[in-house]
Amino acid sequence: MTRADHVNPQNGLPVPLKGGCACGAVRFEAIAEPIRVGLCHCMTCRKKHGSAFNPFVVFQFEDVLIGGALQSWRSSEHATRLSCATCASPICYQEDAGTEIELNLGSFDDTSLFAPQYENWTVHRETWLPALGIPTRATDSDFQKRHLANA
Ligand SMILES: [Zn+2]
Ligand SMILES: [Zn+2]
Repeated sequence: MTRADHVNPQNGLPVPLKGGCACGAVRFEAIAEPIRVGLCHCMTCRKKHGSAFNPFVVFQFEDVLIGGALQSWRSSEHATRLSCATCASPICYQEDAGTEIELNLGSFDDTSLFAPQYENWTVHRETWLPALGIPTRATDSDFQKRHLANA
């Protein structure tokens, strides 16, 4: 975590993008801009986050640095979720075979930098949520089988 802050001239996003857990014991930086931003309604995301949905920001694994003690949980046969070992804030989601890492939108110091570009698992979407006008997927089966075990 030694790279100096600067603003990406192409899109204005500050790089690195910084964030961390609620207690401050875990901090992370993303040293490149995200690949995409999604929103998941799957039951595991909802339970894990204690929320009705989970907005997440996807980066290449090698572009993210994480510091601090973490606890891990195998949330499916093919993926692990890491949380702060002290306050249990969710930090990231990683698939065993993937080259990406999902950080949680709400973990960033500036949460206004990102907006979801698509929604997954809308079969579980709450009826009180207004439409966002972005592409939706009823499950995740057509999108890298993400969270497949949570159908
Ligand atoms: Zn913490
Ligand atoms: Zn999910």
